[in-house]
Amino acid sequence: MERTCLLPEHQGFGSQIIGFCVTECCRKPSRALCFKCMTGPGHQGHQLIQAQEENAFLAQPNRIFTEINQKLELMIRQFSKGIKYLQGILQKNYQPQPLSNFGNSEITEKINCILKLETVQKLINDRLDNIFENTLKQIKITCQDLTLGEEFKSYEFLQHQKYQEASQLINQCFQRGNRNTFLKLAQAEIFKVQDQFQDARAIYLQLLQEDDSNPWAYFENNKMLNQQERR
Ligand SMILES: [Zn+2]
Ligand SMILES: [Zn+2]
Repeated sequence: MERTCLLPEHQGFGSQIIGFCVTECCRKPSRALCFKCMTGPGHQGHQLIQAQEENAFLAQPNRIFTEINQKLELMIRQFSKGIKYLQGILQKNYQPQPLSNFGNSEITEKINCILKLETVQKLINDRLDNIFENTLKQIKITCQDLTLGEEFKSYEFLQHQKYQEASQLINQCFQRGNRNTFLKLAQAEIFKVQDQFQDARAIYLQLLQEDDSNPWAYFENNKMLNQQERR
């Protein structure tokens, strides 16, 4: 793709992009460089590459990107394997079945297991809900940190408990037609902090309608329902 320099003063002959600035801390508006950019003072001392060095430059990031994806795939597999293992044990030992299916010697053990089911439920609720909540929270924060632009700024305000600033920015994004899911979750979080539980719940329900597998809306909504029951 033929591209030319964005700087108005570099327009004209020789303004094709011939290289890139790959210095991490570069604050110049454009990293795409024409001959004048490459030889001028703007990126002096910065690490510049020629356009034809692009493949070599992308090799390491490509490797890292692949590694990240492989790691996430592995996490998905191992996590669901662990849960399936738990399901297996539950089914094998604790599933209530007619006692006539068992020989006399097994019946005592079966009855013992059936009587323990409430304890089993409590164990699973107490331990796994915590893991799920923490894991989902960490995933959400990571998603937010990887987001760019104004959304990111809203999340940052939220993480520093600057609810008013976050709220303002989120509303501005909504007004501009931004339907980002994490912005909605962020708004629900602000509502909760301000004890506006009905408003928070409305957001979770709306998100669940749009996407019934939204794990954060599902988890937060359930948590609110449980809290209401306990009150
Ligand atoms: Zn230029
Ligand atoms: Zn630079």
